[in-house]
Amino acid sequence: MCGIFGIFNVEQAQKYAFYGIYALQHRGQESVGIAVSDYEKINVVKKTGLVLESISPKDMETLNGNIAIAHVRYSTAGDLGSANAQPLLRKTSLGPVALVHNGNLVNYNTLKAQLQEKGINLYHTSDSELLLALLDAEEYVPEHIRLHPEDTTLLPKVFYALSKVKGAYSVIYMFKDRLVVARDAFGFRPLLVGRLKNALLFASESCSFDILGAQLWREVKPGEVIVVDKKGIRSYQLFQQEKKAMCIFEFVYFSKPESYLFGDWVYKVRKAMGIALAKEDDIIADIVVPVPDSGLVPAIGYSQQKGIPLELGIIRNHYVGRSFIEPTQELRDIKVLMKLNPNRAVLEGKRVVVIDDSLVRGTTSKKIVSMLRRAGAKEVHLRIASPPVVGPCYYGIDTPTKEELIANRFTKEEIQKFIGADSLKYLSLEGLRGCVKDANEFCDACFSGVYPVAYEDTALRIR
Ligand code: SF4
Repeated sequence: MCGIFGIFNVEQAQKYAFYGIYALQHRGQESVGIAVSDYEKINVVKKTGLVLESISPKDMETLNGNIAIAHVRYSTAGDLGSANAQPLLRKTSLGPVALVHNGNLVNYNTLKAQLQEKGINLYHTSDSELLLALLDAEEYVPEHIRLHPEDTTLLPKVFYALSKVKGAYSVIYMFKDRLVVARDAFGFRPLLVGRLKNALLFASESCSFDILGAQLWREVKPGEVIVVDKKGIRSYQLFQQEKKAMCIFEFVYFSKPESYLFGDWVYKVRKAMGIALAKEDDIIADIVVPVPDSGLVPAIGYSQQKGIPLELGIIRNHYVGRSFIEPTQELRDIKVLMKLNPNRAVLEGKRVVVIDDSLVRGTTSKKIVSMLRRAGAKEVHLRIASPPVVGPCYYGIDTPTKEELIANRFTKEEIQKFIGADSLKYLSLEGLRGCVKDANEFCDACFSGVYPVAYEDTALRIR
């Protein structure tokens, strides 16, 4: 999971990129980077850590221009650390090109070998580098595309790169004088277009436009390539494909609730998941308690549908950083308790339905249930606003291996026992599918086990 941002045609583009990518901080906390072009040269700053803490005013002084791209990283492919932080910058036959990528390519090793045969080297261990290295390989223009005279040099190389990679990509290339933006044919990851006066913006989620006062214009379509330069905006439908596979987990967890993507508002869909879960559930309880923050929106839907009051029975501490002091065995729950604190005032003596967005390993849920009991809850019923996670993601989400997924190792009854809840219920797969406009346009492989793109090989980091 990563966040990407781009802006064209604004003075001090670096400042817009800084705040635009800050709004996407929830999509990646490992590293941040900004690249800026003044039409002559491209400068890049990359740091590990959070946007506000890592990029200093001094760093910002090294950047100035009218075009910028930015990235926050939560690594899924390649090593951790700053070497693979983005934007990646590479000298190509088209001049220097910077790139930001959200997604995961599933034919990394095959393409790497093919490039090496052609004498084209990769210098990083991230799959994203392929999208740059392939610019120096060959050219490709499909028959149905008629190129604008401005695009005849550059786009055949970009089209070739995009036609070779398989998997998930929402990507922004920054050349010295233009941006080229693309989304894979399945549309796995979101990418939206915004407008601010004469500037054009691109971002993983619409919340990025809100912070800048920009207007959401539209989404980059699956399979579409957009070029923006001083001559204007040009759009090409590079891939025509009926089947789409937009990531349903964006609605379950990743995206911010106020964002718009995949043709819908995240809040609306997430709330619908809570409503659907309530319709499938016949439990009797006194209060509904969300696990903050991601359980909050489905809990609102659940509470309204059931007519059971919503109470903030768990309070989140928003000032948690990293602790280097390892807790003792007795303090083993400290990491969860540092973040989430029970609210005894509403829990004591109550039959509690606690709502979380998803259940992956189960270890945090176990701690939450025991925390609620210690705070006086009479009964704790765990409700999950998505189906059991049964498979890893190969398309850009950092999920555990199949063996680490609790739903693969135990039955529902065993999981309930492990977690210590009085009952456990998931939203059904059908229920989840009913919450989006057209379920056939979505990937739900981690819930259903049906993968829309075969994973030949991958740079996926197995943890
Ligand atoms: S496997 Fe799951 S997380 Fe990955 S793209 Fe599909 S729905 Fe999203």
